[in-house]
Amino acid sequence: MSIFISAQHAPHPWFSVKDDELVVGGHKISQIAAEVGRTPFYVYDKSVMTRKIEQLRAILPKDIALNYAMKANPMSAVVRHMVSLTDGVDVASTQEMDVALDAGAHPQDISLAGPGKTESELHRAAVAGITVHVESEREIRILNQYAKTTGRKTRIAIRVNPDFELKASGMKMGGGPKQFGIDAERVPQVLRDLATTQLEFCGFHIYSGSQNLRPDSIIEAQTKTLNLAIELAKHASGPVTHLNIGGGFGIPYFPGEQILDLISLQEHFQSLVTHARHALPQARLIIELGRYLVGEAGIYVCKVNDRKISRGQVYLVTDGGLHHHLAASGNFGQVIRKNYPVVIANRIQGNKREIASVVGPLCTPLDLLADRMELAEAEEGDLVAVLQSGAYGFTASPLKFLSHPEPAELLV
Ligand SMILES: *Cc1c(COP(=O)(O)O)cnc(C)c1O
Repeated sequence: MSIFISAQHAPHPWFSVKDDELVVGGHKISQIAAEVGRTPFYVYDKSVMTRKIEQLRAILPKDIALNYAMKANPMSAVVRHMVSLTDGVDVASTQEMDVALDAGAHPQDISLAGPGKTESELHRAAVAGITVHVESEREIRILNQYAKTTGRKTRIAIRVNPDFELKASGMKMGGGPKQFGIDAERVPQVLRDLATTQLEFCGFHIYSGSQNLRPDSIIEAQTKTLNLAIELAKHASGPVTHLNIGGGFGIPYFPGEQILDLISLQEHFQSLVTHARHALPQARLIIELGRYLVGEAGIYVCKVNDRKISRGQVYLVTDGGLHHHLAASGNFGQVIRKNYPVVIANRIQGNKREIASVVGPLCTPLDLLADRMELAEAEEGDLVAVLQSGAYGFTASPLKFLSHPEPAELLV
């Protein structure tokens, strides 16, 4: 049986229900909880990640490489799984670089991006032989100095801050003034200056936004991205061999949101490849995705410790909350708080339904996992699951806030 989904949930085709319990990775939630031995925990389902990638590969031309942006979920077991299924890993820190290398990614398939890279980060990347997406002239200077003194000629791509945005995206990462990348209009001069360095120029990284569910916006941004890269390439002293065109594919979180329609992207990708083959014949096109690949594969599970009724409103007070899952509480960049899909995981339908709010143990009204949702009537000891929690959960939360224990994490 496929999952429940009422009007109050975003669509979620991935998990099933058995004996009124949520099933993840073939196991009922009560079995998983017994195995973990404590709550709260995050559990990620490998097979969902595999199926997401299969769906995407089915519409993606062979000539477009798929990278995993590992900040979405850097758990080492997850990264190992993703390395086995994708063509490269995008990292944003020395530790992420180490995790990617330990997971078996080849250095030439790893790229390091992020503003304000330290000298030691840049040196580590140079030594490891990974590609650096430089975000300023300073980073170029440091890498060139290192090349002069050590002979290590780092492969670099220029991260470009485009002069357009990814429209209708949850988070805009390009266009206008930004701390990311080098403004497109300054790139021609930077490329001319690069010719006198000892660095190996390989191409561009143009990332304009995240969490987008609208194919037309994605098509528009990627088309502009390729055109910008073609324009900029005219100023380069060598061919573009590496062109990371970003990604930003979103997943539905909130009522009314729909799954991104891949089929309407298929033709676009084909024409992008054709255009690129003609204009930048040596370029390897790369898309980088985090959330889209792992977000739906994970859930966060906590236990009801108390059931309280305050002036007629039901509160399920759990052992989990904002400190473990900032995004579900609505405090990770959301403008208007909406409920993530939440269920009572060990009684999906239950005998009776009720309107309840799910809160955590923190002394702040922000510690809210579900605000007046229709749920199965729950008791102390029941398990609450927050779906769509495989990305930007554990590591994007203030785990030390109020000093409660950290959640466990497992991959099944
Ligand atoms: C965060 C980030 C990503 C991943 O974004 P998702 O929304 O998780 O796909 C990709 N590329 C860059 C440069 C990023 O900063």
